[in-house]
Amino acid sequence: MMPDREPPDSHPIECDALIVGAGPCGLFQIFELGLLGIPAQIVDSLAHPGGQCAELYPDKPIYDIPALPVCGAQELVDRLLQQIKPFNATFHLAQEVTEVKRETERLFLVRTSTGTTFHARTIVVAGGVGSFQPRRLGLEGAEAFEGRYIHYRIKNAAAFHGKDLVIFGGGDSALDWTIDMCGKAQSVVLVHRRAEFRAAPASVTRMRELVAAGRMRYVEGIGERLVTADGTLKGVVVTGTDGSHHELAAEQLLAFFGLHPKLGPIAEWGLDLDKRNIRVDTERFQTSIPGIFAIGDINHYPGKKKLILSGFHEAALAAFGIQHHLHPEKKQFLQYTTTSPIMHKRLGVTG
Ligand SMILES: Cc1cc2nc3c(=O)[nH]c(=O)nc-3n(C[C@H](O)[C@H](O)[C@H](O)COP(=O)(O)OP(=O)(O)OC[C@H]3O[C@@H](n4cnc5c(N)ncnc54)[C@H](O)[C@@H]3O)c2cc1C
Repeated sequence: MMPDREPPDSHPIECDALIVGAGPCGLFQIFELGLLGIPAQIVDSLAHPGGQCAELYPDKPIYDIPALPVCGAQELVDRLLQQIKPFNATFHLAQEVTEVKRETERLFLVRTSTGTTFHARTIVVAGGVGSFQPRRLGLEGAEAFEGRYIHYRIKNAAAFHGKDLVIFGGGDSALDWTIDMCGKAQSVVLVHRRAEFRAAPASVTRMRELVAAGRMRYVEGIGERLVTADGTLKGVVVTGTDGSHHELAAEQLLAFFGLHPKLGPIAEWGLDLDKRNIRVDTERFQTSIPGIFAIGDINHYPGKKKLILSGFHEAALAAFGIQHHLHPEKKQFLQYTTTSPIMHKRLGVTG
């Protein structure tokens, strides 16, 4: 189940709460805010929600989620998405929050890498270990060609049809796109640095069948240098693991080396940091900037444990902190979901 995506909007989106990071803690933050009647917008640099659970260990079992003796990591994400459904949060995926600045005393201007802007009255940073960035093709001059000739994710597959393609990588993305592009691209060469693949065995078998049928090439080796002329990519030189040299014609290069986390722009928002983590209080999980809260793996306080259940607790208290920040005059009540008619209404259930 994937939440709806919103197209980037040039007008700032007004919101009471903006959550940065759609890992398990960011997702549960939607729930806790929703119970208090506070709608949320949520942004993640990944194209799907779930953070580390979805990206790093989707098929692994988790044994320390209260009341779930065992739960797959992706299953946990799916259950959270189910749980937050009544609150209709808007997801802005595949975009990194790059800039956060105070616009007025009680309003932040937030900007993402795709140009979406928000006027947020409060922000919850649930950025985990940072935003996941693609591992890059470390060839000289590659950076200048990124986006035009060198790609780390595919936004529009049709743009590669009829082209000479060289694809790097040995995981599922590399193999899936290699197989998909065979017959659609003018030519396809897959380059992988070793004999073992991380991709599903069935995909590797299919790729080998395509090679045997002469429909694509496979080279075991690593990229050595780009071949360019007049600012245009012409190809790439690959050194085989057997020492051979291959000059491969390429109009477009695709590299799928996986993702690695980077604290990135969060470090520049003026928040008090403890090494790579954001300092918070333990009453509201508010940061050094009033109105900005931080929960989950990204925060730091004495005794902090980077566990999902700790992040869930932090989300509950942050929600009350946010409610107080938005409506300081309001008296706060703790209501049980079991018995509160207001919460039943918000949850869309009958008591
Ligand atoms: C192999 C493995 C096994 C684990 N097993 C367990 C376990 O058994 N039990 C347990 O409790 N914990 C476990 N953990 C830890 C658990 O996964 C983390 O504690 C949890 O994922 C933290 O959730 P989070 O929401 O804080 O951050 P994350 O899951 O890291 O999600 C943060 C999200 O924020 C996004 N983000 C960051 N910066 C930005 C930005 N500037 N703009 C937009 N998006 C941004 C990232 O892309 C990411 O999707 C395990 C971790 C690993 C790696």
